[in-house]
Amino acid sequence: MNFGMTEEQTMIVDTVRAFVENEIYPHEAEVERTGIVPEEVAATIKQKTIDLGFYACNFPESVGGAGLNHLEFALVERELGRGSMALNHFFGRPQGILMACEGEQIERYLLPAVQGKRMDALAMTEPGAGSDVRGMKCNAVRDGGDWVINGTKHFISGADHADFIIVFIATGEDQTPRGPKKRITAFLVDRGTPGFTIRDGYKSVSHRGYNNMILEFNDCRLPDAQVLGEVDGGFAVMNEWLYATRITVATMAVGRARRCFDMGLNYAAEREQFGQAIGKFQGVSFQLADMITEIDAADYLTLASAWRLDQGLPANREIASAKVYASEMLARVTDATLQIFGGMGLMDDFPIERFWRDARVERIWDGTSEIQRHIISRELLRPLGA
Ligand SMILES: Cc1cc2nc3c(=O)[nH]c(=O)nc-3n(C[C@H](O)[C@H](O)[C@H](O)COP(=O)(O)OP(=O)(O)OC[C@H]3O[C@@H](n4cnc5c(N)ncnc54)[C@H](O)[C@@H]3O)c2cc1C
Repeated sequence: MNFGMTEEQTMIVDTVRAFVENEIYPHEAEVERTGIVPEEVAATIKQKTIDLGFYACNFPESVGGAGLNHLEFALVERELGRGSMALNHFFGRPQGILMACEGEQIERYLLPAVQGKRMDALAMTEPGAGSDVRGMKCNAVRDGGDWVINGTKHFISGADHADFIIVFIATGEDQTPRGPKKRITAFLVDRGTPGFTIRDGYKSVSHRGYNNMILEFNDCRLPDAQVLGEVDGGFAVMNEWLYATRITVATMAVGRARRCFDMGLNYAAEREQFGQAIGKFQGVSFQLADMITEIDAADYLTLASAWRLDQGLPANREIASAKVYASEMLARVTDATLQIFGGMGLMDDFPIERFWRDARVERIWDGTSEIQRHIISRELLRPLGA
């Protein structure tokens, strides 16, 4: 076993850390205040990421990416997690699922996404179907040579900036002994397609400026050329490519927790009450000890799950453990840091209240904590026949 980083991995971490500190941190307060990422700021972050060779670093070199493996990409995401989600969205990491593009889809979607010319988003969730993806109602029906789509998706992150969206849609239903089961197909849907509308979503307390949108399909016609992967093969592409996205949530949680912790640590060393630094009181110092222990634990758990993917080892349970542990650790660390800051922790003079708010969504998106626990326990019990 080797817990150290290679020279190249150290370079990746240092480069992305410096980028986040220089290009993201300076704009955070304004995005937080306005809820908007100014267009010129977004364009600058994107261009500098391209210049650095990090745009689409999660894609293989054969299609123009940086060819990072899962572990290296986790290191990138960990550093990005320190900064605002709304801003680091433009440090583009297109959905890995685009590697399923075939034929002319490669020129129309995959390559422009990797080159930063077109941005993507991914849509599964519906008002009536969240954790239960197969409960989706948005459906595509055959009509002549086309598909006709009707339905609604909501909570779709980044769809406000997307040129096209990868949308999972029901294309049929099978009767099984356990009841009807939807067949699902992934479609590539261009902004501006007739019958397809992207409208503002809800206001979230987490990640201001990183907007979620509502997608509406009203008799939207799509040809077969827009199918990503196989018809009815949506779950196959989902499992092959989306499996790893939960690592992103975990690694970002670790990065943000370290940033927040460092602020709490410094505050505990500087703030004096009763004639001494508050960090000298065991009630505070033991909190710091618990926080750093949990952050390290989440870090190792997360990197180990990414490493397993690189080794071709089963990693579903490990990724679920990393996602649930890191996201819940972030909640505890941001809450404890806020407590160390006392009343000032709640004021927007410091970013602590933002970290605390932002942390809340991590236990919900990309599969809630309950769904991750379901995955973990299922993997443990299934081999025993339960
Ligand atoms: C800000 C934001 C951005 C998002 N971005 C995207 C996006 O870009 N694309 C996309 O497709 N989706 C996105 N999502 C959707 C996200 O993945 C869902 O919110 C999540 O999967 C949960 O679905 P739900 O909110 O409908 O909750 P529900 O599924 O309705 O769950 C409600 C509660 O019931 C619990 N529950 C449900 N089923 C079970 C079960 N079997 N066992 C135990 N407990 C259960 C849940 O854990 C939860 O506590 C986003 C969500 C948010 C909030």
